[in-house]
Amino acid sequence: MTSVTSVDRRRLADLLDRERAEYTRLHPRSAAAFDRAEHLFGRVPMTWMLKLAGSFPLYLDSARGATVTDLDGVAYADFALGDTGAMAGHSPAPVVEAVQRRFAELGGASAMMPTEDGEWVGAELTRRFGAARWSFALSATDANRWAIRLVRALTGRPKILFHSYCYHGTVDESLIVVGRGGAGVAREGNVGAPVDVTHTSRVAEINDLAGLERELAHEDVAAVLIEPALTNIGIVLPEDGYLDGVRELTRATGTLLIIDETHTFSAGPGGCTRAWSLEPDVVVIGKAIGGGIPAAAYGLSAELAERALSRADLDLVDMGGVGGTLAGNALSIAATRATLEHVLTDAAFDGMIALATRYTDGVRTAFAAHALPWSVSQLGARAEYRFLPTPARTGTEAHEATDVELDDYLHVYLANRGVLLTPFHDMALMSPATTDEQVDLHLDVLRAALAELVSA
Ligand code: PMP
Repeated sequence: MTSVTSVDRRRLADLLDRERAEYTRLHPRSAAAFDRAEHLFGRVPMTWMLKLAGSFPLYLDSARGATVTDLDGVAYADFALGDTGAMAGHSPAPVVEAVQRRFAELGGASAMMPTEDGEWVGAELTRRFGAARWSFALSATDANRWAIRLVRALTGRPKILFHSYCYHGTVDESLIVVGRGGAGVAREGNVGAPVDVTHTSRVAEINDLAGLERELAHEDVAAVLIEPALTNIGIVLPEDGYLDGVRELTRATGTLLIIDETHTFSAGPGGCTRAWSLEPDVVVIGKAIGGGIPAAAYGLSAELAERALSRADLDLVDMGGVGGTLAGNALSIAATRATLEHVLTDAAFDGMIALATRYTDGVRTAFAAHALPWSVSQLGARAEYRFLPTPARTGTEAHEATDVELDDYLHVYLANRGVLLTPFHDMALMSPATTDEQVDLHLDVLRAALAELVSA
């Protein structure tokens, strides 16, 4: 991976060694727990937990609001927030109450029966995102998969088009990038692809309407499935007119538009869809809406839902392949209702976005003060720094600015001083429980990390 920074690599390597040694010293109980975990694949409950800046993961003891405490008793200002799963803060009181009531008092999480909360949640999601008819899943991955199956069935077209370097969960079709010659190729490292991804998918860079037009001209794409801004390779914002162009091109070619708001929900109570007046045919959202309990949803336009339900050849009730036994369970839906009704409210977003603005301004000032040619992008309550002088325009540009050593240095330096960023990149997210003091702690520690890096 290439670095576009002017950082002294020798110095960076020495500092990283020093910080890693300190991390090990500070966390003997996490280190021992990891050492003992012989019955887990990769020693962790999920292999992505090996995405580490130190040499072992921090083990969780407890978490409340925007503070996490590890097994060694160290407390952190948590800006990772479960990579958005805890955007509502950890165990917010209204969600705890709703879960307690549904699971302990009333019971029936796996009763395979609807509750009245479902219609409340559907109506609220419609108010926020516009889509008229909602269905539930337990993860955004599944919501995307099921939406993909539906749009293929409805259009009779085989392919889905994605942005290069997108992430929509472990969806086979999405693991495609724009290759060096401009054509779509499999994303490096993909595990167990069922067929060559170019049989199922097409790809274009975000902000490249000419590329999108070329791909859609084949008229074999059922839907364009995109985040309105990329958030999983740093934040790559759409340029003026880009999303209007996407909608025009999709309409002109009979292609449906699926907007995945799982991360871009940070833009406001109705995500980018509401903030930017987008008109998708399908909206997908996962992670945050359950307030920490697994939940996701996809919403169809009324017209699309009608088309699907009127197709006698599609088995939407039994074995047709859209759904899961535990999806739409009463517990997840009770948690989602509590999250939307009482926690991630319209008013809460105002405070979260103000905090992210304070964070972004502070980071920009810190980079300038140390003459570092780096940038920071904000999308509502989310902000992310990248080792590029100006924010990337495309996924490939953002990918090429990846600098694992620098990422690791900043992550471990911050963790050693009580601040957690999301492990996959340099992202920070604000919850309703995040405070000015936590933002300022991050800025103080970041400034210290940069000063050590650039001082002669
Ligand atoms: N969509 C987007 C935009 C995501 O960022 C992610 C996860 N990072 C997913 C879908 C998948 O979510 P999950 O892993 O919870 O299924």
